Amino acid sequence: MNKFLNNKTSYVVKRCHICNNDDLHSIFFLGYLPPVNTMQSIGTRPAEQTSYPADLLQCSKCKLVQIGLVVDPKILFPPEYPYTSSTTQILKENFAEMYRECLTLMKLNTQDLVVDIGSNDGNLLSNFKDKHKVLGITPEKIGEIAIQRGIPTIFSYFDRSVVKMIIDEKGPAKVITATNVFAHIDSINEIVECIVELLVEDGVFIAECHYLGSLLETLQYDTIYHEHLMYYSLSSLKYLLEQHGLEIFHAKQIPTHGGSIRAYVSRKGKFSIKPSVVEILDREKENQLDSKGLSDLKKRAVVSKLELQSMLLGLKKQNKVIFGIGAPSRASTLINYIGIDDGILDCVVEIAGSYKIGKYIPGTFIPIIDEARLYEDQPNYALLLSWHIADELAPKISKLGFKGDFIVPLPTPRILKNPLK
Ligand SMILES: [Zn+2]
Repeated sequence: MNKFLNNKTSYVVKRCHICNNDDLHSIFFLGYLPPVNTMQSIGTRPAEQTSYPADLLQCSKCKLVQIGLVVDPKILFPPEYPYTSSTTQILKENFAEMYRECLTLMKLNTQDLVVDIGSNDGNLLSNFKDKHKVLGITPEKIGEIAIQRGIPTIFSYFDRSVVKMIIDEKGPAKVITATNVFAHIDSINEIVECIVELLVEDGVFIAECHYLGSLLETLQYDTIYHEHLMYYSLSSLKYLLEQHGLEIFHAKQIPTHGGSIRAYVSRKGKFSIKPSVVEILDREKENQLDSKGLSDLKKRAVVSKLELQSMLLGLKKQNKVIFGIGAPSRASTLINYIGIDDGILDCVVEIAGSYKIGKYIPGTFIPIIDEARLYEDQPNYALLLSWHIADELAPKISKLGFKGDFIVPLPTPRILKNPLK
């Protein structure tokens, strides 16, 4: 069924993606945001550009936090958007650690099949491939890199027909993984049904998704944009899986994407439930992830926004020059929500070779240029837009020759002195 009616490029979420409840209440409205991957070239006149309301909702029944509008993936992932590998050091280490942990939790033989949904360049499966049978599934061209690495890959979305094909040709899977996938799909119940169908009776499903607890703890409201439809707590993830006869038997917080959660899942009663699950669920209750913790989000975000504006005001009154560092998707939310324009930020620098160089930050006239300019121009300040890894970035950029200081915009805006000064 086409959900985008009357040539619209979005639809309003009327019912919860997990439990179909229609009682969804607004927690925090960030305003209208332009799609993060639609960037105009430097020098072009601004043309008509659709922006979409970013209204964060919570379901009264299953407590899932979700964005109130689903935008057509054709808009969010335009054909000219080159899908690049997300293989960072932190992800590499995370998947190696997942493999080791997986072996402590279950027996895995050489003939067992491991299927990764959204397999990207084979980063995760490369840990399993020498000891077990592996299969990646991705609609993206980047899967060709996985094939070169010796990882069989199906170029498709994960759906019923793919599940049938895998079962016919290779049999069911002993392990299924989906990392950074669950937040992106509006028909999430269908995906879980397909997982159940593909999984052997005593198989394990491993899910990783960006964690609502981390979002609240470090005020990562800048991870709210339309590619992220859902923001899971362990309890909302549990609700989703239980609807399909599944249960979480082990869970833990992991550092990827500024704070994620990993859950090990099986059919009900197949594994004994580890204390980790109860511990996290209890902590979520303590932190009132379903009520007070969320109602505070708006207040904290607004205070943080005004503080950052006030800091920028002080610096601009002193005629300080500020560059932005890095143009990740989250930068677009931050810049648009705070109202930063090219009078405040002269430019944003990206690492040489980035496809974003030569474009404007969405919704602004802030140009994205090669990072070499940072070292040539030596602005007074560098605003860290990947602030969640500020401790890693600041020393690195200083060592490369930047002499100014850093601005860390969130959770509480602060100036970070150049560590080499
Ligand atoms: Zn719900």
